[in-house]
Amino acid sequence: MTTETRYIANWGNFPGIQAEIVTPADRTEIQSYVLANTELIARGNGKCYGDAALGSHVLSTLALDKILHMYLDEGIVACEAGVLLSDLLNRIVPEGWFFHVTPGIKAITAGGAVASDVHGKNHPLKGCFSNWLISFELMTASGDVLTCSRAENADLFWQTCGGMGWTGVILSVTFRLMRIPSAQMRQKTVIAENLDEIFRAFEDDQQWPYAAGWLDCTASGTAFGRGTVYFAEHVEGNGAFSRPAQKKRNIPFFFPSWVLNPLSIRMHNLLMFSRAKAGERLVDLDTYFYPLDRLQNWNRLYGRRGFIQYQFCLPEAHSFDGIRRILETIKSSPETPFLSVLKRHGERLPEAVHSFPIRGYSLALDFPRTRTVFDLVRRLDEIVWGLGGKIYLTKDACSGPRMGRVDPAAFGEEKFCSLLKRRILGG
Ligand SMILES: Cc1cc2nc3c(=O)[nH]c(=O)nc-3n(C[C@H](O)[C@H](O)[C@H](O)COP(=O)(O)OP(=O)(O)OC[C@H]3O[C@@H](n4cnc5c(N)ncnc54)[C@H](O)[C@@H]3O)c2cc1C
Repeated sequence: MTTETRYIANWGNFPGIQAEIVTPADRTEIQSYVLANTELIARGNGKCYGDAALGSHVLSTLALDKILHMYLDEGIVACEAGVLLSDLLNRIVPEGWFFHVTPGIKAITAGGAVASDVHGKNHPLKGCFSNWLISFELMTASGDVLTCSRAENADLFWQTCGGMGWTGVILSVTFRLMRIPSAQMRQKTVIAENLDEIFRAFEDDQQWPYAAGWLDCTASGTAFGRGTVYFAEHVEGNGAFSRPAQKKRNIPFFFPSWVLNPLSIRMHNLLMFSRAKAGERLVDLDTYFYPLDRLQNWNRLYGRRGFIQYQFCLPEAHSFDGIRRILETIKSSPETPFLSVLKRHGERLPEAVHSFPIRGYSLALDFPRTRTVFDLVRRLDEIVWGLGGKIYLTKDACSGPRMGRVDPAAFGEEKFCSLLKRRILGG
């Protein structure tokens, strides 16, 4: 087991903490650490944004990196919790398989996918990661290892899906895969000149299994809420399951904080909108699902001050008006979001009580961390709460404690505690 004490932060680079980070090599070492400490939190690859995978004592699962079984006839994979989705992709895509549900980044662990119960661009059709989860092994505070599934320790199974690591340490994960005809996608780009058109595009084009929109939050007047929607479906592609190597660029150092300012952000959004081309084209799987992976360490664009992502979901009946109000509130504030992603969501499994999406729309907004952004977050929280919405805890860094609509105290477990949990509990 390696132990180090250093400053860590998640993807948003805010907040950060000086922490003891241990990386146990196996479950015996995990057990000794769990038993020896009164407080700790499991960490995957730190790709949540805010304070979820942070605490004074952090247990990294990255050494749990073995793929245990690939039952490819049935499309089932079992792996240790620290295996990255990117490593799994390298094994499953050449065999004609893909994930039913994938987030917009592949450098996350299987344990992190369960603990946040991640969703993708196909939520109305496929739900969250838990929809396809068969079972996992969980080490609880007593050091015991429990197998959890819909039939065995079912309460703990559902508490852990989206439970942000508060039930214990996930050791291994078994889940279902989906057959694909090739590694190619047909992508249709729709350019929407305003908010009304962008919602209409989502509603009209529901036959596409995947959809995600980008909003230009800086546009105003008749262009208010303009953006682009990217629909896609898997297609036959000359039987090819090979994935072209992504041309990757890297942000090698933290940019000075002044680089992203309201003017440069407006220019960036203008450029993105004017460059978008309507129509259909073939793209490879990585280009559609993981476009941001092409720019490594893009979080450094925001400088050392970091950024916060505010991702909220509103019930269907309030989505259009609510998002309009949110955009107006942002426009009346000194803050300017650099990137914003709109998704449609369907029903969630009734048992998946901690999953983020509710039937409606979610919008994810990335703001440079300025001194005044917290005031804006408070105003956005009020709107979202008042409309019956919620925020995504895995992105959260500074929202009000009720905003995730989850009570960590109800987990009845004190040992597994992150900064996020402490903040929600008011500690
Ligand atoms: C560019 C980008 C795009 C993203 N797009 C999406 C998206 O489209 N949809 C979506 O749903 N999410 C998205 N995310 C968020 C990301 O998928 C989740 O935050 C995911 O949980 C990160 O996994 P991780 O392995 O890095 O876990 P970490 O960030 O290390 O931890 C996340 C949470 O999981 C817990 N955890 C991790 N491993 C374990 C374990 N073994 N046992 C118990 N608890 C554990 C941690 O305590 C923490 O609460 C995105 C993130 C980025 C950076």
